[in-house]
Amino acid sequence: MRVELLTVGDELLLGDTINGNAAWLGRRLADHGVDVTRGVVVGDELDLIVEAVTAALGRADAVITTGGLGPTYDDLTRDALAKAAGVGLVRDPALERRLRERVARAGRELQPMALRMADVPEGARVIANPAGSAPGLRVELPGGIVYALPGVPFEMHTIMDETVLPELAEIAGLPAVARRTLRTARMWESVVATRLAEVEALDGVRLAYLPDPAEVKVRITVAGPGAAGRLAAVEARVRDLLGDAVYGAEDESLDRVVHRLLAERAATVATAESLTGGLIGAELTAMPGSSATFAGGMVTYATEAKHRLLGVPADLLAEEGAVHPDVAAAMAAGVRDALNATYGLAVTGVAGPDPQDGRPVGTIYIGVAGPERSLTVVGPKLPVPGAGPESRAVIRRMTVVH
Ligand code: ATP
Ligand code: MG
Repeated sequence: MRVELLTVGDELLLGDTINGNAAWLGRRLADHGVDVTRGVVVGDELDLIVEAVTAALGRADAVITTGGLGPTYDDLTRDALAKAAGVGLVRDPALERRLRERVARAGRELQPMALRMADVPEGARVIANPAGSAPGLRVELPGGIVYALPGVPFEMHTIMDETVLPELAEIAGLPAVARRTLRTARMWESVVATRLAEVEALDGVRLAYLPDPAEVKVRITVAGPGAAGRLAAVEARVRDLLGDAVYGAEDESLDRVVHRLLAERAATVATAESLTGGLIGAELTAMPGSSATFAGGMVTYATEAKHRLLGVPADLLAEEGAVHPDVAAAMAAGVRDALNATYGLAVTGVAGPDPQDGRPVGTIYIGVAGPERSLTVVGPKLPVPGAGPESRAVIRRMTVVH
């Protein structure tokens, strides 16, 4: 079954409202195994809505619209559906009664305009809206079914979950679909995709890549009979191919995984940050319970602070500058000792936009001091996405992830 989305409203085109309805619907329908094949946004204009609905039904089995069901004269979806069906609008007595009762209960007077919400294209089915005034509508057109839902997100969610999703799932006969999202870090999207080429070629398997700075989520979708069983095998293969770039699954974020690994070892970490200015500390304290594994952190931004607070040798700083692998290692050992933590973790580097001490933007050194040894990860030179404040934010975020 193919479904298209049609979100209606000038505010969406003007950028006043972010199209959260389309995002929510896409996710919800996917969770129920219903394929969304296209989404269209159209303004509050009668003929454009008629045209969009008709075109959508030329391609898909069903269309879900949101918005334009309210009382004002720029709410045109019900008029458009009547026009597309070649019928008139009829006033529904039960809807009118409900509207009058709602208004009376609120101690208000009914505006004649509000009665528009009791008008229904002839032959359409009314879908109750327990959360608001404007009902949803189900209209059968020659090309397929249209579900028209209010634009207010909360009302739309209620009607979807209570009525539309169960109906669509039944019509679709639910092809078995199983999904799993794996989280990877420190591997480029193109490398991830290249490694997974053989999986992508499998019948009934679809991969989607959702990149963030230094992270890529891989969503695996398996469709067809026995999907759940196949998914387990596909996931195992993906994990094999990506190795330890995979750090978690679903909503298991990086900070949670780090916290879990430390907690399992009854270990703590302390941080000394330069270019990230405390972002790593913020990440490590994001979840409740982080006090069991995070000892504390220092933001040693100025070169002198690295010496005074962390004991990084002054001659090292004088000779090499602040961006150097030995400085990262000394910072890590210094903060580990100062805060009596199991691990010290330190970063120093150049976030840009200007180079520092002759080191180019994107040069990052990460120092880790463990209980027994000290290790400097010579950070990669991060690819700089153009100079400027945006690249600065991306470099800082990438450093946190690394
Ligand atoms: P109402 O019965 O409240 O008049 P309606 O069906 O006429 O609902 P709209 O007037 O188009 O809906 O939108 C009502 C509100 O819902 C908007 O102000 C907007 O905040 C929100 N909204 C509408 N469409 C979307 C959308 N696609 N995504 C997110 N929010 C939306
Ligand atoms: Mg509107």
